[in-house]
Amino acid sequence: MSFKEKGLLVVLSGPSGVGKGTVCKALRKRGTKLKYSISATTRKPREGEIDGVHYFFKTREQFQQMIEQEKLLEWAEYVGNCYGTPVDYVHESLESGEDVILEIEVQGALQVKKKFPEALFIFLAPPNLAELKNRIVGRGTETADLIESRMTVAKSEMELMQNYNYVVENDQVENACDRIEAIVLAEHCRVDRL
Ligand code: 5GP
Repeated sequence: MSFKEKGLLVVLSGPSGVGKGTVCKALRKRGTKLKYSISATTRKPREGEIDGVHYFFKTREQFQQMIEQEKLLEWAEYVGNCYGTPVDYVHESLESGEDVILEIEVQGALQVKKKFPEALFIFLAPPNLAELKNRIVGRGTETADLIESRMTVAKSEMELMQNYNYVVENDQVENACDRIEAIVLAEHCRVDRL
């Protein structure tokens, strides 16, 4: 299609540990044409995480200020920390016709749905909950208490799947990427987007 259309907002969500970050990284590596929003968080950086690359690391006060100044498209408190999507980057990218992907937890995704019902909502699902726990434990970054908190949240998050347009099982990262690319492509071909 030769005429210019607005970019597509893709929301990739699902329980913590399901592999959203890994899938996004793999999409990036493939060169999939998407812009990757960098979130703000009050969580402390994990080893190897760089401010402005993985997250914008903020104090509680700084984060609160961003909320008050309406600089966040959505935000949520998750296992004791706040996470939010800076709004300007998303708006500018969409306006210039580029697709943007948000990798966010479920509460934030529901907020985006209220503001952008036309966005594309993809739920990344684990093959099963036991596998999800294996992945969180295997990551080796969380204490036993945090693993249990994340699993409790994950179980209730699975029930919110029906709010999404698509569910993609993350059995293998490359399979999940194939499916996401196909869904985004199909969305661009929808008659009601023309
Ligand atoms: P982690 O601490 O493992 O990096 O992230 C914890 C959870 O926060 C993950 O499910 C991740 O997708 C989610 N998350 C990351 N950035 C954002 C954001 O900007 N908004 C929301 N609502 N969730 C986010």
